[in-house]
Amino acid sequence: MPDHQPTPFQEAEVQPVDDFTVVRSPDGRWYTVTGPCPTCRARTVFRVAHGVLGPLKGRLRHRRARPEPLTGSIPVYCQCGYPHPDRPPESPDAGCGAFWDVPVPPPAESGDAP
Ligand SMILES: [Zn+2]
Ligand SMILES: [Zn+2]
Repeated sequence: MPDHQPTPFQEAEVQPVDDFTVVRSPDGRWYTVTGPCPTCRARTVFRVAHGVLGPLKGRLRHRRARPEPLTGSIPVYCQCGYPHPDRPPESPDAGCGAFWDVPVPPPAESGDAP
């Protein structure tokens, strides 16, 4: 279990150095990304709603009742909840300011043929 590093708050894109777990909720509406923050080493749990992030492509229109899986990567930012020096009080972030992309694994389920 890595210790949390109270690094000075800085908004910066970083490269994830460890494996992240991306889990799709059973109803397909949420992705939960879990992994250590590359900057402050806190374990971050980041939940994104399907369909909220990223530009909607044409094929993602509401042609189906079931949500389409996300493709590409999920932009994740640190929400470790630990105090970091230099964090502006008005900042909505609850972490060290680091953000990074986590690739979305291909959907494992099938049976949704077009
Ligand atoms: Zn932190
Ligand atoms: Zn962090």
